[in-house]
Amino acid sequence: MSNHGFATRAIHAGQAPDPSTGAIMTPIYQTSTYVQTSPGEFIQNYDYSRSANPTRTALEANIASLEGGKHGIAFASGVASLAACIHLLKTGDHVLLCDDVYGGTFRMFNNVFNQLGIEFSRVDMTNLDATRAAMTNKTKLVWLETPTNPTLKVIDIAAVAQIAHDGGALCVADNTFASPYLQNPLALGADIVSHSCTKYLGGHSDLVGGILVVKNRELADRLYYVQNAVGAVPAPMDCFLLLRSTKTLHVRMDRHCSNAETIADWLTQRSEIDRVIYPGLESHPQHNIAAKQMRGFGGMITMTLKGGLPASRKFLESLKIFSLAESLGGVESLVEHPAIMTHASVDADKRAALGIDDGLVRLSCGIEDGSDLIADLEQALDAAAKA
Ligand code: PLP
Repeated sequence: MSNHGFATRAIHAGQAPDPSTGAIMTPIYQTSTYVQTSPGEFIQNYDYSRSANPTRTALEANIASLEGGKHGIAFASGVASLAACIHLLKTGDHVLLCDDVYGGTFRMFNNVFNQLGIEFSRVDMTNLDATRAAMTNKTKLVWLETPTNPTLKVIDIAAVAQIAHDGGALCVADNTFASPYLQNPLALGADIVSHSCTKYLGGHSDLVGGILVVKNRELADRLYYVQNAVGAVPAPMDCFLLLRSTKTLHVRMDRHCSNAETIADWLTQRSEIDRVIYPGLESHPQHNIAAKQMRGFGGMITMTLKGGLPASRKFLESLKIFSLAESLGGVESLVEHPAIMTHASVDADKRAALGIDDGLVRLSCGIEDGSDLIADLEQALDAAAKA
């Protein structure tokens, strides 16, 4: 399959008609165990569903193909997949994180793994000199997201992977915001790609999941070991839903991108808005890096409303098609307030340093009619202006 185009791989990779019935869709193998013909002799390498399940195997192969990797290791959530990477480490190891990493990733380091002696620090990875300087002789993982959440900074994956490797560390790239359709970090030198499948890969806001993809067999074996030993595996039904979803990823992403591009342009004309952040705008500080490493600029837009919390609150309450909710990447448009919602676990002074202020609002542009989305934003901005 590796020589086929993205759409063909999205629909077929990892999947073959079910040999016993010819069913074209991979069945939901809703089973915990598998019959053995003799002790230790398995019919098809399956013995227990925490270790492996055929619906999960199909999913892992499918997303590994979309990322240009060889091995997929699926988890019950995006943070479970991130935690599996940290289980590669030992007490005293250091992790270098990009500074506006997803709030839940920061919380996991700050409140959970910190207690086990895994050290971490954060740096603005758009600044390569600062990133190089932040490496220590204990740094084992260099952890980036791009575009970042919520300020949509774009990090040069190839350059940061090189810094990681020069320091003897692995580079982990959280590719949730871009999806494999728009960006493939492994091809740029990252060692592990991580996804919250809850977002674009799932695409329908009906499941929670995560996956890691790697090229290297030895690294894959270590991660499969953690997957089985720690056990945060996804259920067969969720694997099936994800397999159904990745079949349309390319078509959905095209519409997410075109809606977001139109909306970002439109927002820049509005006087109620201080700043529009979208990697596709030439005003974006890392627009050239985005153009170099991404095939499209994604469906996420972040903006700052003039008028702080009263204006942003009124705007969020007034939207009718955009739903006020955490999460992103579904077919329906969502909006959220990072300071109060997704990034509440980041200290207020750190949020301020990152520019996550009370006027900051994050849009996940869905795949509805773009004109309806703009009309919705317009009426909510008008309402906010009167707040
Ligand atoms: N990574 C990013 C960039 C995210 O935005 C999220 C969730 O919002 C996660 C990881 C965590 O994923 P999950 O919620 O599926 O555990």
